[in-house]
Amino acid sequence: MSKRDYYDILGVTKSASADEIKKAYRKLAIKYHPDKNPDDKSAEDKFKEAAEAYEILSNAEKKQRYDQYGHAGVGGASGGGGYGGGGMNMEDIFSQFGDIFGGGGGSPFDSFFGGGQSRGGGGRRVAKGSNLRIKVKLTLEEIANGAEKKIKVNKQITCKTCDGSGAKDKGSVSTCKTCGGSGAVRRVTNTILGQMQTTATCPTCHGSGQQITAKCGACHGEGTVRGEETITINIPAGVSEGMQLSMAGKGNAAPNGGVPGDLIILIEELPHDTLKREGNNIVYDLHVSIVDAALGYSAEVPTIDGKAKIKIEAGTQSGKLLRLKGKGIPEVNSYHRGDQIIHVNIWTPKALSSEERAILEKLRESPNFKPQPGKNDKSFFDKMKEYFE
Ligand SMILES: [Zn+2]
Ligand SMILES: [Zn+2]
Repeated sequence: MSKRDYYDILGVTKSASADEIKKAYRKLAIKYHPDKNPDDKSAEDKFKEAAEAYEILSNAEKKQRYDQYGHAGVGGASGGGGYGGGGMNMEDIFSQFGDIFGGGGGSPFDSFFGGGQSRGGGGRRVAKGSNLRIKVKLTLEEIANGAEKKIKVNKQITCKTCDGSGAKDKGSVSTCKTCGGSGAVRRVTNTILGQMQTTATCPTCHGSGQQITAKCGACHGEGTVRGEETITINIPAGVSEGMQLSMAGKGNAAPNGGVPGDLIILIEELPHDTLKREGNNIVYDLHVSIVDAALGYSAEVPTIDGKAKIKIEAGTQSGKLLRLKGKGIPEVNSYHRGDQIIHVNIWTPKALSSEERAILEKLRESPNFKPQPGKNDKSFFDKMKEYFE
């Protein structure tokens, strides 16, 4: 008789997580437990088979050897008969259970029947307020330098009348009768193995352990009211469109004095009149007259921190890219800053007076005014690559 594949036994795929493997085994262990299937040899075999499969697949090293070499890799040569390959007896199987069922070892049934550590959502619980989302619009200057924004937010705030308790006064708060103040109730469920005890959040007090006999008039017992709060938000330099910042505890207040939610801030970039953002660089289109381009001059360009002078050399061609180092946007939480890139556009006059026309007519035939593009002049794409890669 050849042995079945361990993954098949547990009914999981090879890519199953440790948690999925554990869950699958737990199900089988309950289903085929000998105490639930007295004198049923096939159930006992399945119980042992599942235990062995779990023994191997829950151990990273053994699992790897099994994946690589099959049963031979984990000492369970096929044809040996029975399921003794892994050397598992009933005692071994039961000792595994502490880990599977969350109990502290000892009798495997402790944890089944609530005698061991209790699992599940028990105990006192505090409510959490919902998260609040707002949009913040930022200019390019604010993005470059970081900004402190004071924003009025409409949200659930703690009721000042009852200080968030939801009760009319101190005398109108009493211990919850359903759970006796623990915030949790025990539930007994019938399973194949017998009764299982689980704990759940108390339905009467929702885990607070307290009951209110007379409600606060201002908030109708909720502990929160609609209100306004001015929140100061510090936005770091370098943020970009679509980025989300989160401020813990600045969202909606929670009912009955729980933990407030978070404030999620969505960044929006406002367009700039003259500057464009390209990653952490700033791009500016500079228009230069034919005369200035031919004679050279000192151009004034806007930057993120005010005006800057830039030298345009005599004979500058249209399309030239110049760089102002460090005049771009900083990276978030970094000292590195992008550059400002200036794209030179030669401006051709659209209207001419008769005198201007006469001057230009004189220049038309001059050899210097004939275009003479150099063979090695970089193309626009080459130049873009140079700056943006
Ligand atoms: Zn209760
Ligand atoms: Zn109130």
